[in-house]
Amino acid sequence: RIMLGNLGKNLTKTMKKLAGMAIIDEEVVKEVIKDIQRALIQSDVNIKLVLNLSKTIEDRSLNEEPPKGVTPKEHVVRIVYEELVNLLGSSAQEVEIDKRPYKILFMGLQGSGKTTSIGKLTKYLQKKGFNPAIVSTDTWRPAAYEQLLQLTEPMNVPVYGDHENKDALDLARTGLKAAKKNDVIIVDTAGRHKEESDLLAEMESLSTIVDPDEVIMVIDGTIGQQAGEQALAFNNATKIGSIIITKLDGSAKGGGALSAVAEIGAPIKFIGTGERVEDFEAFDPDRFISRLLG
Ligand code: GDP
Repeated sequence: RIMLGNLGKNLTKTMKKLAGMAIIDEEVVKEVIKDIQRALIQSDVNIKLVLNLSKTIEDRSLNEEPPKGVTPKEHVVRIVYEELVNLLGSSAQEVEIDKRPYKILFMGLQGSGKTTSIGKLTKYLQKKGFNPAIVSTDTWRPAAYEQLLQLTEPMNVPVYGDHENKDALDLARTGLKAAKKNDVIIVDTAGRHKEESDLLAEMESLSTIVDPDEVIMVIDGTIGQQAGEQALAFNNATKIGSIIITKLDGSAKGGGALSAVAEIGAPIKFIGTGERVEDFEAFDPDRFISRLLG
């Protein structure tokens, strides 16, 4: 179950409290909003976003006429729910494999969960009937190739790489050629360099060589609001971008990461909810909130 630290627990408690109220008046609405504010701020959601959400919930709850057949209480519950969903933005399109091979370039800082997410996406695509291959171009972490091999061993997919080769561009070229019969090619990249500018320069060169149909950035959800800046930097550097936010299982700062990335309009496509390959899902704000409150 997704909890995001105590966010799920606290919001569920608030919704229960609301459901138990005999009457809904301004005082009750304000009390509920206070609880929601506290819960969201604890989860590192940006204060400005929290205040906007509070104001909208208050305005709508006190001024909107409930639709026919809906009690004032149900109406407020619905408003809170809708505004929490709005905080997470709209749902991104799933990966749409519209040509073969469909090339996906993965980027992300070391430790973000990039390698794990590649394993997860591979499994996800296999389940959908695709036949993916992986190309490893990380020349900075010698173990990256082995980690990919290990991770994907049960999935029986080709992983192309060579830990002796220190030329990422050459690895990309060779790997793409070898994998050209597969319908999806996932290209892994380095997560660090001596300098960040070198890393970005390498990503640019790789982008040119790979000519990706989709660039996916992996962001660690435990960094909270900073995820917004990371996504923004990435969005400015590449045109076609979607985002995977990892480690949302248990992370107390996950609410901050999700809302910050949603606020800048970057498409969150998948989320990582654990260390196992199965702990991965397409991101849908509506379903996410309903499970958080579930
Ligand atoms: P990389 O350096 O970006 O390739 O990161 P890795 O894929 O090696 O992941 C770094 C650590 O984060 C590993 O211990 C993973 O098991 C862990 N990890 C990755 N994704 C998740 C996730 O969604 N939830 C949790 N709890 N751990 C994760």
